[in-house]
Amino acid sequence: MTNHLMTNYAPMAVSFTRGAGALIWDTNGKQYLDALGGIAVCALGHAHPAVSKAICEQAGQLMHTSNLYTIDLQIQLADRLCHHAGMEQAFFSNSGAEANEAAIKLARMFGHSKEIAIPQIIVMQGSFHGRTMATLSATGNPKVQAGFEPLVEGFIHVPYNDIEAVKTLATENKNIVAILVEPITGEGGIKVPAANYLNQLRTICDTHDWLLMLDEIQTGMCRTGKWFAHQHNNIKPDVMTLAKALGNGMPIGACLAGSKAANIFQPGNHGSTYGGNLLACRAALAVIQTMEQENLARRADELGKTIQQGLKNKLRNTKGVLEIRGKGLMIGIELNRPCVELVAQALEQGILINVTANSVVRLLPPLIISNNEAEQIVNHVSTLIENFLSH
Ligand SMILES: *Cc1c(COP(=O)(O)O)cnc(C)c1O
Repeated sequence: MTNHLMTNYAPMAVSFTRGAGALIWDTNGKQYLDALGGIAVCALGHAHPAVSKAICEQAGQLMHTSNLYTIDLQIQLADRLCHHAGMEQAFFSNSGAEANEAAIKLARMFGHSKEIAIPQIIVMQGSFHGRTMATLSATGNPKVQAGFEPLVEGFIHVPYNDIEAVKTLATENKNIVAILVEPITGEGGIKVPAANYLNQLRTICDTHDWLLMLDEIQTGMCRTGKWFAHQHNNIKPDVMTLAKALGNGMPIGACLAGSKAANIFQPGNHGSTYGGNLLACRAALAVIQTMEQENLARRADELGKTIQQGLKNKLRNTKGVLEIRGKGLMIGIELNRPCVELVAQALEQGILINVTANSVVRLLPPLIISNNEAEQIVNHVSTLIENFLSH
């Protein structure tokens, strides 16, 4: 068959047909251990019975009505998310980028409400916020932006984990209305900032009446060992975006607002035809209920410690391993050289991994993996890296 797909992706030839938990099978019936979970999406693993059942039931009942009508499942989902986040309101989108678009629009309206005509948002170098025009403009990676100029205005990039840079801007620029930042960078190489970084950003935002907007699209939903990564810092954001694991594969994103950012949007200011439809909300409710019942935040914390410690033990004497870092089941292994070919080597050996920022092996396994599967990940990945670095 002729391939009529646009050429924006460069997929590997392998194609999968079936999954169960952390296992997945390709068209030849070969089995793989999935240590990537569809890029942090399948936190409950593949074909989770509770999610599949919820989707099937809802699909047989009612999938979509539009936001012209009240959607009870949306109200329930907002309630669960606000309960876990200690926030006030939610808007639902179909993707992460759209959740960030909502956050950016909120920040601009917040600025205009304070008579700031040209509101500016501080964003970080090395960040990733999505591929729409506004979110790629916010993203701190020239590769994501190249070819799409003119970029959307209103973003000021500063180095990640650099509090002084933010303080300097605060004294110089009266048009700043918000900071948008990832608690741990995902696409940017699993960079973990200083332990008090988010706390300091929180203080600066409070001092200057800015919104602290956290992109928790990758770090949220129990991934790092808490419901949301900022909960390691005992702070609350004013705005938080979610997507990825929220639907375990059902496309859904969310933009949550705390009291400072609540009630900014008025009817007509923002919307999405599909956003928060019954099917997506039902899936997300099943995801949250499962995470609650199985206490997956705590499980991710335990498993993350086991895997990181295991990798550190095995790779202790391996020259070329610069750092093993992360939180919970968001783990990066930085090597001293580009290592993109590791992805194909791992695939060959029956394990799905990813390499980001050229030289960081990234692991984002489902949160439901067994101890044995965690051990297999440690063994597979450390052996792969040892072999790779010995050549
Ligand atoms: C994946 C991701 C996005 C974009 O989400 P999409 O669903 O691909 O639009 C934004 N921010 C972060 C931190 C992400 O990991």
